[in-house]
Amino acid sequence: MSVRSSSELTTAPFGTLAAPAMVVAETVDGRFGAPRVQPTGPVPLHPFAHALHYGSSCFEGLKAHRGDDGVVRLFRADRHAERLSASARRLRLPDPGPELTLAMIRETVLANLSVVPDPPGALYLRPVLMGTEPNIGAAAAPSADAVLYVVASPVGDYFAAGARALTLLVETEQPRTTPQFGQVKTGANYAMALGVTLEAKAAHGADQVLFAPAGDVQETGAANFLLLDERRLVTRALDGSFLHGVTRDALLVLARELGLEVEERSLAVDELVAAAASSEAALAGTAAVLAGVGTLVVDGVRVQVGDGNVGPTTRRLREALVAIQRGSASDPYGWTSAVG
Ligand SMILES: *Cc1c(COP(=O)(O)O)cnc(C)c1O
Repeated sequence: MSVRSSSELTTAPFGTLAAPAMVVAETVDGRFGAPRVQPTGPVPLHPFAHALHYGSSCFEGLKAHRGDDGVVRLFRADRHAERLSASARRLRLPDPGPELTLAMIRETVLANLSVVPDPPGALYLRPVLMGTEPNIGAAAAPSADAVLYVVASPVGDYFAAGARALTLLVETEQPRTTPQFGQVKTGANYAMALGVTLEAKAAHGADQVLFAPAGDVQETGAANFLLLDERRLVTRALDGSFLHGVTRDALLVLARELGLEVEERSLAVDELVAAAASSEAALAGTAAVLAGVGTLVVDGVRVQVGDGNVGPTTRRLREALVAIQRGSASDPYGWTSAVG
């Protein structure tokens, strides 16, 4: 891909444009070798590779932002690298360790600096770890070998112009994941949520499904859920049932700074429905940052959240976070790190 103007880089649908360079490291006898930079392209995989048969793969998603000052900064890459290691351990994959992952993330940004879009775009980074041992008999054995690669994609503002509020179907029967995979960023969870999400789209025009098994709110397929108003923010306390978002963590810090009372606790669907008219709701995750929710579909009934649009506290929180990511607000927590 040749260098293009920033607007061309960010009008493609999210995740469809490949940046020119990727960084790859493989294990030899279970230990990761030196990473190398190469053109983005096919990764050789033996057809017997463990990941293809037994699901031994996990990934991360994070962003590098170009500030108004031209500096490119990664946002909390250390946390993402640590989470990849946590996923690797739960999948019994060789663990590259946060240091190697972080170095490869930085190398990937460096190799693609010329295609980091101007704000509100960003360079989305996707580290992927897969079990590569060629052994289709290893159904009940871990993969001794693995490949770690980091690819990048220039992306636009997920919710550009207008920022339409989302519709969520509240699902109280089908689970998003299993108890052992709740905190693992692995494709199996997405595969499990896909059918449920497609049905919710077809039947109710829902954008996403909010999983709330037995009436206990967890999260959507790829983002954490927040119920908020100008005084307080309610979100599920950290437990094994959901993916502990880096965005969620940052937003809770910023919410406290803005004077909100943060309640990390269980939220029942009944309470959510009762509070909807006088509240805001939002989804937090790297891709969307903070996306407003305007409608819930509960037992086939549409419940409006607030006035049905993206709420004012949601906007304030989103702006506070984006300002740090772009280097236009101070970063007292050391969340950003410049590259290049
Ligand atoms: C990636 C992901 C999130 C968001 O995590 P961030 O670290 O904020 O990007 C939330 N839920 C699920 C299931 C995810 O896979």
